[in-house]
Amino acid sequence: MAGKVYLVGAGPGAADLLTLRAAALLREARVVLHDDLVPAEILALCPPAAEIINVGKRCGRHSRTQEQINALMVWCAGVHETVVRLKSGDPTVFGRLGEEMEALQRAGIAFEIVPGITAASAAAAAANITLTHRRSASALVTITAHNARDEGMAQTIFDPLRTTFAIYMPGPDYGRTARELIDSGLESKTPCAVVSNAGRTNQEVRHLTLADLNKARGIAAPALLIVGKVAAPAFQAEQEEQALFAHQATQASHSDADRMGDMRTVQP
Ligand code: SAH
Repeated sequence: MAGKVYLVGAGPGAADLLTLRAAALLREARVVLHDDLVPAEILALCPPAAEIINVGKRCGRHSRTQEQINALMVWCAGVHETVVRLKSGDPTVFGRLGEEMEALQRAGIAFEIVPGITAASAAAAAANITLTHRRSASALVTITAHNARDEGMAQTIFDPLRTTFAIYMPGPDYGRTARELIDSGLESKTPCAVVSNAGRTNQEVRHLTLADLNKARGIAAPALLIVGKVAAPAFQAEQEEQALFAHQATQASHSDADRMGDMRTVQP
């Protein structure tokens, strides 16, 4: 029977900023696949017999492709009961987690995400900065200057279709929140996930769209609303992407070489 893969956040790099859950998993680990940014101090928590594999690909030093990492993870889960995939910060932030989850789902392997402290939180703490401010900063934007599409930030920063919105304090009137988001330019079919009591034993997750977000009324507080393509149940998102690429490929096959060049720029 296939094992389980823990997709674990290592935090910003200090062992005492690791979560207790991450530390417990590392202490029990038989095999750990980690990124470059994870320091030796954290890997030292693993038992001496653990197999520790650096799968990092930093600054152009592509030791392994993402496909190879995915394949290795799937292979390890076939051999070991538990596999730790250790990523810096929080695994859900700029960590290619989407591709890894898709590979695991495709192979029918169970996985669990263990969150970590993301670099933005650590950097704000280091610099004595508050990332939001009741009077002067109601939004926090997390953005990368490097993406697989090789697009500049100007092309993505104000594009709501390429943005994930993590909305704190979204209730209790979810209908109003949805209306405001739609009035701000989001499509009513945009996927949403309402997560109540995240990480607690009474956690509840509901996948909706902005059109039916009012159904979240009554969900227990505290809750967080995640809005954007990534909030669709994983396979739905993947299938939509595949359908889009298939459509683009069909269009490209009917057009000239310049058109092909354009298409390449929108592939991940
Ligand atoms: N998943 C990670 C981000 C991975 S992308 C997270 O949640 O933090 C890698 C980038 O994160 C680095 O290039 C740098 O910009 C930032 N980063 C990671 N650790 C950091 C640290 N300790 N201090 C400052 N920036 C850091």
